[in-house]
Amino acid sequence: MNLRIPGPTPIPDEVLRASAAQMMNHRGPEFAQILRRVTDGLNWVFGASTDVLSFTTSGTGGLEVAIVNTLSPGDRVLSVSIGSFGDRLKSIAKTYGADVVSYATEWGEAADPAEIARLLDADATIKAVLVTHNETSTGVTNPLEAIAKEVRARDRLIIVDGVSSVSSVPCPVERWDLDVVVSGSQKGWMAPPGLAFVHFSERAWAANAEARMPRFYFDAAKTRDSIAKLQTPWTPAVSIYYAMDRAFELLRAEGLEGVYTRHHAVAEYTRKRIKGMGLKLVPVDERFASNTVTAVYWPDGIDGKGVSKRAREEFGVVLGGGQGKLDGKIFRVGHLGFFQESDVAEALDVVEKLLASAKTTV
Ligand SMILES: *Cc1c(COP(=O)(O)O)cnc(C)c1O
Repeated sequence: MNLRIPGPTPIPDEVLRASAAQMMNHRGPEFAQILRRVTDGLNWVFGASTDVLSFTTSGTGGLEVAIVNTLSPGDRVLSVSIGSFGDRLKSIAKTYGADVVSYATEWGEAADPAEIARLLDADATIKAVLVTHNETSTGVTNPLEAIAKEVRARDRLIIVDGVSSVSSVPCPVERWDLDVVVSGSQKGWMAPPGLAFVHFSERAWAANAEARMPRFYFDAAKTRDSIAKLQTPWTPAVSIYYAMDRAFELLRAEGLEGVYTRHHAVAEYTRKRIKGMGLKLVPVDERFASNTVTAVYWPDGIDGKGVSKRAREEFGVVLGGGQGKLDGKIFRVGHLGFFQESDVAEALDVVEKLLASAKTTV
């Protein structure tokens, strides 16, 4: 199978083999060494000088960690949503009683830092800004560094969903002065689903001391104190730590610049091929097109779900579909984590062939 969805992503054989190792005592010295190495790897990729925390959960659990550990019911937050994952982050905040002010763009557009600045200037009671770095549902990457500058200048917290960006595109949490940043093992990290990674800035820890949203399993302070002793508060997904430990050897061998360059180059290749096929990208402004996932409209009159089904059944190419209001209207090609240009080329060749035959049979 050529799995081209934006997560879970394919995993290198050596990482798969590492994840198949026998269980060990998660409170013993061997696991402590693995947790130290994995945490060092996370700190390296996040650009953090304090430990990135890991939680046994998927990316959404990591988003919940971010919300419940920094906010109290009734806190006013600005939700910046450019697609379905932005909406999800907003829903989590609402579920826990935050007072949410919404800024939503049309799907396909990026958020405008100047608009965020204006909204913050208009309301001094907004305590935090919730923003998606890379919106996986539309293939759009927000100008996060510029957004962070506006938020910082107004001294609010910035809480970032970096689930499908961190480790694939630059997101240096300290250099950009971000408060809470979340990622997940099954996206760019070349590991199976099961771990979420969350970094808290000093400001975020200060907010944590005051935050009253309910939490137990996802208590970040408990997790921080455990990880300081090279343990986790609860039984962790031991096998995913084995996988991450091995995946970091590969990431370190390639180097962060190498990883970012590969993602950028293959994303450019993908966009060029898509436009060459006469298809339309979902991102309205290509400057904000994602380097980890490319979202493309099916041409008018084409049964996109039918084409996807044939790609899977006849050619073993698994494309991502559309989410929410884009269901049936678009397809998405993931190019994050472990892949080369040839994997994407093969998938696009199949799409091209199937579209040509679909057109002649209409
Ligand atoms: C995948 C993803 C998530 C989390 O999804 P899970 O299925 O819970 O791992 C959150 N945000 C973005 C931007 C994502 O791409």
